[in-house]
Amino acid sequence: MSERIVGIDLGTTNSLIAFMEGGTPVVIPGEDGVNLVPSVVALDAANQTIVGNAARKFLIETSDRAIYSVKRLMGRGVEDVHDELKFFPFRLASDLDPGEVIRIHLGEKTFTPPEISAYILRQLKRNAERYFAAPVTKAVITVPAYFNDAQRQATKDAGRIAGLEVLRLVNEPTAAALAYGLDKKKNGIVAVYDFGGGTFDISILKLHDGIFEVIATNGDTHLGGDDIDNLLITIALDEIANEHRLDVRRNGEVVQAVRKAVIDAKILLSSEPSTKLEIELPSGQRYQREITREQFETLIEPVLQRTMAPCKQALKDAGLEADQIEEVVLVGGSTRIPRVRQLVEKLFHRVPHTELNPDEVVALGAAVQASILGGSSEATNNMLLLDITPLSLGIEALGGVVAKIIHRNSTIPASATEHFTTGIDGQTNVAIHVLQGERELAKDCRSLARFDLRGIPPMPAGLPRIEVRLLIDANGILQVSAREQRSGKEAQISVQPSYGLTDDQVETMILESFDYAEQDLEQRQVIEARNEADTILVALAKGRKSPAWSALTESEKREIAEQEQALLEVKDGTDYKKIRSAIDTLNQGTTRLAELMMDTAVTSALKGQSMETVNVGQGPTAPHPIGKAEFE
Ligand code: ADP
Ligand code: MG
Repeated sequence: MSERIVGIDLGTTNSLIAFMEGGTPVVIPGEDGVNLVPSVVALDAANQTIVGNAARKFLIETSDRAIYSVKRLMGRGVEDVHDELKFFPFRLASDLDPGEVIRIHLGEKTFTPPEISAYILRQLKRNAERYFAAPVTKAVITVPAYFNDAQRQATKDAGRIAGLEVLRLVNEPTAAALAYGLDKKKNGIVAVYDFGGGTFDISILKLHDGIFEVIATNGDTHLGGDDIDNLLITIALDEIANEHRLDVRRNGEVVQAVRKAVIDAKILLSSEPSTKLEIELPSGQRYQREITREQFETLIEPVLQRTMAPCKQALKDAGLEADQIEEVVLVGGSTRIPRVRQLVEKLFHRVPHTELNPDEVVALGAAVQASILGGSSEATNNMLLLDITPLSLGIEALGGVVAKIIHRNSTIPASATEHFTTGIDGQTNVAIHVLQGERELAKDCRSLARFDLRGIPPMPAGLPRIEVRLLIDANGILQVSAREQRSGKEAQISVQPSYGLTDDQVETMILESFDYAEQDLEQRQVIEARNEADTILVALAKGRKSPAWSALTESEKREIAEQEQALLEVKDGTDYKKIRSAIDTLNQGTTRLAELMMDTAVTSALKGQSMETVNVGQGPTAPHPIGKAEFE
């Protein structure tokens, strides 16, 4: 049986792992039998990391040795998170430069947010491995729809650090809709109302031909079940102060006991008409109080009302009336509260879907997506699930205008190519400025990356033929490459978001991580080396058929054949270093062939001219904006 691909909901408050079993997605419980793993990471006295429920007690006892809500810091810079620091006791490393990846103190050490998230992922991975009694290395992970490129990259990095190949990042609302099989409807508008522990998100999805497009999102990043808990805690603490003449507000342990008691009561009130709140006090006294659902609802109404404005705004942004929403999906533990369900129903004039557990539905949808990617026949009709890029992508052309290459609403993965040329005679370098947005001028679009294509042979303006290719992979991550086709000069960039970790940093983190499975990396490197070997072998086969081949000497041809044979011999082995070294040798051996394969017409045209003529006014060494090509 091929390896199972799991689906993961990496939540702010809770995380879950699920997989597809016999056509139905199921959540995999932890060792304690509980499906939800609290997103809390702690370091015990022996510097062992502890994740989940067991880590929660550190939050009170040794709060400098525990971290929660780390999702709020993923892919963000120090400048971005001032707001979070008002709400959360994150202890950031003080020596951070602007633009540098944040590091957070945990005990005596510091960690980046992806490393902390990786601990959570590793715990989930272990739970699944225990459950299957087999290794798990491939996953689909969900992210909020509003996560930007940097936040998505950080999530992917967390997966890699945890030893998981992240096959796809899926938007949380899309996953929720998928868990309900709404994609089978083919067309329609879906609202996903996600009220979790500390965040509220509303997303409006448009389904066309089984493809989900997020057409509007809104929400409040500081609104959730925690606010409800805090209201109840305040009441209990006030009453304890009044009735028992006991101020326990500063007693962390008592406050925590109160917190636990009110959360239990809150949860009970979702199914019972009333419940008792009971707390043992340090004085030996007991605080007791009856609370009815009605009282509870009156108390929390202002919190619930705060979710309404973002919903209305999202509808407005989507250009829709509430009546046009065809399906409403509830996500997040806090939507278990009956009053929340009433409010949502009233707002959208629809009975929301509640058949699945709202705190599991995102993970279940991730599992559905995972099984689709795995090509499992259990999956619903092998349907292809695609996301859409919400904004156009392009590059800056001469005069500061934007040349769009991939247009908005293209289904991803997507790739597109455009041709450009130089604007100045003898120009040897061009600057490629990658942009995102719908506006015509570069200055009005979001700048994603800049890189230079250097070393173009000097040619008259307009002669170089520069192919720029943009590729967005299925996770929405962009790669850009530029190639001057006459000279074969090439440059590329994988758009590294600001605050992203570099590949090297991620690799280092993988190496440093405690439970690092050496084999995982080794395997990946073997696969990557083999893929590269295949690419060069195919290119060589092409070269043999080209006229350039006959221009090689017999001994050159023999040498290439030997190098090719050497590569073929090691290619299917498991030593990636041997494969790499054979590739390098063959690469060197075929350099002249590659050169000969270049456009001979231009080469000879250039040869015919003296370099002075070509280099009129000295080609600029500083990269100059690329010009839109006239040919074709
Ligand atoms: P997140 O997506 O933010 O990680 P969850 O979807 O797991 O979080 O939601 C967690 C929140 O749901 C917590 O505030 C928890 O107290 C609340 N919650 C869970 N079950 C219930 C329930 N039955 N009634 C009310 N609130 C609940
Ligand atoms: Mg959630």
